[in-house]
Parts: sequence; C-alpha cells; structure tokens
Amino acid sequence: MDIFDSLESEVRSYSRNWDAVFDSASGSTMHSEDGRTFLDFFAGAGALNYGHNNPVLLRPLLDHLQSGAVVHSLDMKTPAKRRFLETFEELILKPRDLDYKVMFPGPTGTNTVEAALKLARKVTGRTQILSFTNAFHGMTLGSLSVTGNSMKRHGAGVPLTNTTSMPYDGYLEGQVPDFLWLRQALEDSGSGLDRPAAVIVETVQGEGGLRAARASWLRGLADLCHQHGVLLIVDDVQAGCGRTGTFFSFEEAGITPDIVCLSKSISGYGLPMALTLFKPEHDLWSPGEHNGTFRGHNPAFITATAALEHYWRDGRFAADVAGLAAQLREGLSRIAAATEGSVVRGRGLLTGIYYADPEAARKIAAESFARGLLVETSGPRSEVVKTMPALTTTAGELQTGLDILADAAEYVTGEPVTLTSVA
Ligand SMILES: *Cc1c(COP(=O)(O)O)cnc(C)c1O
Repeated sequence: MDIFDSLESEVRSYSRNWDAVFDSASGSTMHSEDGRTFLDFFAGAGALNYGHNNPVLLRPLLDHLQSGAVVHSLDMKTPAKRRFLETFEELILKPRDLDYKVMFPGPTGTNTVEAALKLARKVTGRTQILSFTNAFHGMTLGSLSVTGNSMKRHGAGVPLTNTTSMPYDGYLEGQVPDFLWLRQALEDSGSGLDRPAAVIVETVQGEGGLRAARASWLRGLADLCHQHGVLLIVDDVQAGCGRTGTFFSFEEAGITPDIVCLSKSISGYGLPMALTLFKPEHDLWSPGEHNGTFRGHNPAFITATAALEHYWRDGRFAADVAGLAAQLREGLSRIAAATEGSVVRGRGLLTGIYYADPEAARKIAAESFARGLLVETSGPRSEVVKTMPALTTTAGELQTGLDILADAAEYVTGEPVTLTSVA
C-alpha cells in the first residue's frame, strides 16, 4: 500500500485503473517512474487538446512567471487578461460572427455551468431547466441537477430539483420524431411542463456514452427554444476548443446558442480556466453577483492566448484535425466491425466504440493500459471505449494507438480485427 492508497480518499478514480506514478510527459506521451511509456489517448479528459507540455505554450508561460508579472488578480485588469480578451475577440468571436460577452467564472467546468444556469434563471425569471438523458455537466449541485448518471446524482445527498430530463438524440433509436413530446408540451398549457428558463445540451456526450447529436437535431432544438423564448445553453466544456474539428462544436450545425460554457482546454496547457459566453442582451448580472477568488488566472491567460494565436489564426489546424478524425473513425470502425453489436460513436477526436457486452469496454481499456495506451471508458455502464487523443497527435501516433487498441480488443473479445494501416 502506498501513500496514495493509504492517505488519499476513497473518492479517487483514475488512479485505480491506471496503476502508475506518472512523472513526465510530452505531447501525446506519458512516462511513469518505473520506466514505462504510455501513448495518451485520454488527454486530461479533454484538458490537453494541444498535448502535454507543448513548447509553444510553455515558453510564454515561463517568460510570464519569470518576468515579475502578476499571477493572481481576481478579476482585476492585467495585461495578460487584456491580450487574452483581444485575441479571443479577434480570432474566435469576430470570424464566426458571434456577439458574446465574456465572463470568467471559477476556473472549472462545473463553475461555468453553474454560472450559465444561474444567469438563465435570472434573465428569464423562470426556474425549470431542461437537460438530456446521459448528460454530464459537473459535480456541484446545479450541474448535478442537469446530469443524468444516477450514481453521481445520488451523491448530491439532497433532492435535485427544478430540472426535467429529456431524450437525447438517438436515445429512443429513431422510434419517434425528434422533439415530438417537447414541442407538444411547450405548446399545450395543460401539459404540466412549466415553461423552462433554458435547455442545456452537449453536442457530443463526452462522459455519458459518446452519443453525438446530429446537426439537424441541434437545429431543431435551437428553433424550438427560439420559438418559445427558452434560452439554449451549449456545454462545450469537453467538445469545444477544437475537439470536434471546429473551435466550437456547434459550428457545423450553424446554431448560435444564447450561452456557451467552455473550460477544459481553453487554457491549452492544462491550467484551470473557464469562460461563460452569452449574448449581450443577457448580461444582466449586477457587479459581484457571481463571484470567486480564482476567476481568470494570469498564467492561464498567457497559455490560452498563445494557443489561440498558434493554432486558430487560420484554418490549417482545423483541417489537420479533420484528417486525424477521419483516420481515427476508419480505424475504430474496423475494430467495431469485428464484434457483433459494436458501433462507433462520437464525432471528431471524441470518438469511441460502444460494446453490447458491458464488460468488454472496461476490459479493453485495461488491456490497452497493460500494452501502453491510455484510453478511458464512457457511459452509464462504462460500455464505451473512448478515444480522445490530443489534437496535436501525429498520424503515426494515431496509427500506433489504433494498433494497440485493435490488439487489446482482439485479446478481450477473441474476434480477429483486420486493421490495414492508413498512416
Ligand atoms: C468535464 C465536464 C464538466 C465539468 O468540468 P469540471 O472541470 O470537472 O468541473 C462539465 N461539462 C462537461 C461537458 C464536461 O465534460
């Protein structure tokens, strides 16, 4: 028994599946103290879209820290914050014709979700929030109230109220037309559904099983919200920052949410940072009404700015990600084809394989670890093998990871996989 097992709380989770002490990392590779090397297709659960210790971000971070510049400043004005805001406006908002105010909530995903829910209720004067089956939005009370997973919900210890869960795209396997019940319920004053303040949605369900909403479904949802004066919140904490190919995951659908939540990879370097974006007419906060000590951390502004400048000035990076995503999907499709009932789920570099046998995915992830590949599982029964490589992964690394995954799947399922090399 080591200090991690003896002193650290039973609540720890990743360290149980991955029994290694990770001591160094670079790009898509992690090393452990005992000399093992791992290919990282987990990428900090989406917080490391640009890989580990990316030198493009490390250099300006070190310069900042050594220069005597301010590190902590609550929401005071600093040059690092100025440059981040200017760059975000120039490279992200303006080219996409998005007119959003930028709020810095606390530095985590659940902080931006809490801010979004609070603002939606304040703006509309209504209490109900609609969320979706298998959604994941974070672990504080408001975020849990819109999260699907029963084990996590139960952990709240109090009733989670003022929310209603709706079927996500694909949940009813196409047996009913999209939004059949919701449209009817919103139009019928006898439906018993109080008019909601907002709907909160992930375009790809990162934790809940990697279902990806179709663009037409997202457009249908946005139209329905618009017709009924219900705010649309897109939680882009995991699927944003290029994960699905475009900076925001909703760009392909051509929708403009009222509120957008970003965190995980917005700092680019794995430093804690979050943004809540909303249409200017919704900026009804009173000064200090939503506060916090760590809102806008200067080292995170530095790496966030460097990431935007290096990767998002033109369309080249997005094109590279699209190429990798096609390669990943092709490889995963071949692995899935070997096993009856398996299907590829997800979008972009947030893609995985659903297994009908709930034990299979967990075993494949464990076997991948033994063979030097970090992949996690997703879904209520951990039934999906989830691959989430850094967006900076090379085609060669991607192929190596797919080869390991194919071997692990073959070993666990006993079904031979034919994986022709695409790299
Ligand atoms: C990870 C995640 C969150 C919560 O972020 P934390 O930083 O863990 O609080 C919220 N929403 C989505 C979609 C996430 O993937």
